[in-house]
Amino acid sequence: MWRGLWSLATRAAHWPHRLCTRQSSGALDPGPGATIFALSSGQGRCGIAVIRTSGPASGHALRRLTEPRNLPPARKASLRLLSDPRSGEPLDRALVLWFPGPQSFTGEDCVEFHVHGGPAVVSGVLEALGSVPGLRPAEAGEFTKRAFAHGKLSLTEVEGLADLIHAETESQRRQALRQLDGELGHLCRSWAETLTKALAHVEAYIDFGEDDNLEEGVLEQADKEVRKLEVALGAHLRDARRGQRLRSGAHVVVTGPPNAGKSSLVNLLSQKPVSIVSPEPGTTRDVLETPVDLAGFPVLLSDTAGLREGVGPVEQEGVRRARKSCNFLDTVVAPLGTRNPSGSSPRLLLVLNKSDLLPPEGPGPCPDLPPHLLLSCLTGAGLHGLLEVLKKELAAVCGDPSTGPPLLTRARHQHHLQGCLDALGHYKHARDLALAAEALRVAWGHLTRLTGGGGTEEILDIIFQDFCVGK
Ligand code: GDP
Repeated sequence: MWRGLWSLATRAAHWPHRLCTRQSSGALDPGPGATIFALSSGQGRCGIAVIRTSGPASGHALRRLTEPRNLPPARKASLRLLSDPRSGEPLDRALVLWFPGPQSFTGEDCVEFHVHGGPAVVSGVLEALGSVPGLRPAEAGEFTKRAFAHGKLSLTEVEGLADLIHAETESQRRQALRQLDGELGHLCRSWAETLTKALAHVEAYIDFGEDDNLEEGVLEQADKEVRKLEVALGAHLRDARRGQRLRSGAHVVVTGPPNAGKSSLVNLLSQKPVSIVSPEPGTTRDVLETPVDLAGFPVLLSDTAGLREGVGPVEQEGVRRARKSCNFLDTVVAPLGTRNPSGSSPRLLLVLNKSDLLPPEGPGPCPDLPPHLLLSCLTGAGLHGLLEVLKKELAAVCGDPSTGPPLLTRARHQHHLQGCLDALGHYKHARDLALAAEALRVAWGHLTRLTGGGGTEEILDIIFQDFCVGK
């Protein structure tokens, strides 16, 4: 039983406070009270454009543009006539929303103007806002930066938001939304909590180890928690490449002999004329890459020079590059291909093209032929089946964002989880308890930095660069 009132429970309660003084505070200074404004919807003519402000002068700006009205009720859309405060000239009849902080996206006082999307209206309202003292145009990502600075979003959620804005495929959107919902952050925080408890146990032993009344098995308990965490981290790290592929695209290379229909297949899959299709062998002399959405997954699709020997130097260089690109890919689609040219082991999908040229009774028995799909780039026969198989392959290499644990989508995530795992290795081999406790602190630090605690300005700047003005 515990004798010292400085019990583990007290310590565990103390630790989060000592270690976690919210990742946001001090990590980023939101600036000396400036109020920012920007067009937050896309550029160009549109039905409705959203202009927003954030900062202490937001309410004042709203009143200036809608004079002589008072502030509308919080978080309720109100129709107001907007006028230029300098000339009194009407600008638009618009919906306005007033979000007093801290219940707003940034945590500060915010206003949204939903104006008609004509360029003259948008520029008129932006100019009018610029004339209000204390307001200045926002920089790229500044709204999100403020949300992070006020603890509204963790760093992984900020990354999820950036990914959601840039998501081009269904799977990227699903993954980004999960990250924005904070799944990865929650997981890291629960791991950090485990470490906090383990650390409290080790420290209690350091302080009260000689004390008979110290609860038995305190260190064993810490060891057990650390072992469990090691297994969980290891499993996530093994999966790390999948999340990154999902974010930046899996490499799929189409390769095979000349004239097999590689360029035709690339054009068919990307639904645009990426490569030159010609009956003359050797037209594709370099590796042509195009980003495509394949069955909802982001893919970097490459057309390669046909793999044949004894040709001129330019085509030979193309063949060399084709072979080299096969070292970096995740899936090979090989129309009429017979072997994996690089000797490495990406997933190989054998496709027999030009099935329209086969006799109606089919290809006949080919006992030597490995499992394959029949396709005709000319008629489109077999395309549906190929896309289905590709979808399964891509789900295997990218991970399925709808199910399973949250994926690690950035090298930064991988770096911190690896750092945490390494520190846990040091804990196990520590010569004394002080070093063991230090290793746990290092491990804890990695998990906290992953969600944004103690993040360096450089990393934050890199992440916020992904945002556009108005976000
Ligand atoms: P690559 O050299 O492997 O890139 O092959 P291409 O895509 O340039 O195609 C070579 C030739 O085969 C062209 O004349 C294409 O029109 C033709 N071709 C491609 N796919 C098919 C197909 O499914 N059926 C038939 N009959 N011809 C095809």
